[in-house]
Amino acid sequence: MTTQSYDLIVVGGGAIGLSTAWAAGQLGWRTLVLEKFGVLNNLGSSAGASRQFRLQYAQRYMAELSLASVSFWARLQGHTQKTLIRQNGSLWFGDPAVDSQEGGISAAERVMDTLHIPYTPLDAAQIEAQFPFKNLPADYAGFFQGSGGIIDLKSTEEACLDAALDTGWVDVHEWEPVLTMEETGTGVRVVTAHGTYTAARMAICAGAYVNEALAPLGLSAGIDIWEMSSAYFALTQPAAHLPTWFVFQNPSDSALFYGFPEVDWAHPCYVRVATDFPDRIITDPSQRSGTPSPKSLALDAQWVRDHMVGLDPEPRFTATCLIALAQNSKRELLLDYTPAWGSPHSNIVTYTAGWAGKYIPILGDMIVRMLDVPQTELTYGDYTIPLKHFSIDWGRPE
Ligand SMILES: Cc1cc2nc3c(=O)[nH]c(=O)nc-3n(C[C@H](O)[C@H](O)[C@H](O)COP(=O)(O)OP(=O)(O)OC[C@H]3O[C@@H](n4cnc5c(N)ncnc54)[C@H](O)[C@@H]3O)c2cc1C
Repeated sequence: MTTQSYDLIVVGGGAIGLSTAWAAGQLGWRTLVLEKFGVLNNLGSSAGASRQFRLQYAQRYMAELSLASVSFWARLQGHTQKTLIRQNGSLWFGDPAVDSQEGGISAAERVMDTLHIPYTPLDAAQIEAQFPFKNLPADYAGFFQGSGGIIDLKSTEEACLDAALDTGWVDVHEWEPVLTMEETGTGVRVVTAHGTYTAARMAICAGAYVNEALAPLGLSAGIDIWEMSSAYFALTQPAAHLPTWFVFQNPSDSALFYGFPEVDWAHPCYVRVATDFPDRIITDPSQRSGTPSPKSLALDAQWVRDHMVGLDPEPRFTATCLIALAQNSKRELLLDYTPAWGSPHSNIVTYTAGWAGKYIPILGDMIVRMLDVPQTELTYGDYTIPLKHFSIDWGRPE
């Protein structure tokens, strides 16, 4: 077999890998994406049809990253006829004192005030009057932020793929897992069952599978993998104005829920409601069960029965998804140079963890800019994002 050479090899053709290929193709980098399964698969972190876009965050730099991502979404939108984000707004409500892994209401309001992001504060009675929720505790409060919305995830991945291929510089090989990688002195050599490839640079975008991908480098990343579930509930009356929403309640391991409006691309006449706590925490994707935990589904259904208007509380369709999250830290994303072969390598970047659906189009650009020139921060217009917030806790494979 001959060795083919590229400027960049992307390990993983999920949402972030495809976005990275798009960004690299725009620079004229000859790029190879190697995907273990088919693209647009439902076996990793991009399973399912919808994600929430929001500007509000408890950390200023995350809100700034959301603001910076808006122009990248607009650019990606230019590559498809489908609407990538439906701007129904974002409603956060619940107990203002709760601080979860999604942040908290008061902290997010403070950041929005600092960044002049408009929002409308609401008390429990106002939330019930304006949106289809009921029987909320009287001391619940929150806000509505109008720029939030629902991401059509599969169309977003498809648009990244099309945009990458349109550059004319990107090859995508499906069903071709990376088996080994090694240093060549001028870059990396990657071996699969179908070929050997060399490149000056590599982006490891393997999502929850990152530790399997990193093992040939003698590395592991400090992540937990949450297997999460969600369910679709039938509308029993014409849909009221339902934005994307998140409810903050204690305890955080059984009372955090979020949901979406009805959309035409996923089970029309149903809305999705999900638990924001893990069904189970695993260390390797091979340990996934692939079925929602009955306990999570029951809690989800109970929330719908008690607090949502116009829905049949019997879950009709269900789904599971794997998300890698930083272990032992509150880091929102994990994106870092990879210390392969004993020293930090500025030509290998790993992205693995976090709620990154909202950052799909900008993350590819971030990864490519890191690979182009060593960076400690990235500036987008008025916003400078320090990369130290996303550093990975590196270890050795078990
Ligand atoms: C239940 C759930 C809800 C979420 N909600 C939100 C939300 O509301 N808002 C938000 O912003 N984000 C949300 N997210 C997060 C968001 O979906 C993910 O951050 C995003 O989809 C991650 O994409 P990825 O490319 O990193 O991972 P993936 O899409 O999993 O891609 C990784 C790819 O790498 C491939 N791969 C792995 N190993 C190899 C190998 N050795 N060789 C070749 N290929 C390999 C895999 O097959 C896979 O296709 C949610 C995630 C989950 C699970």
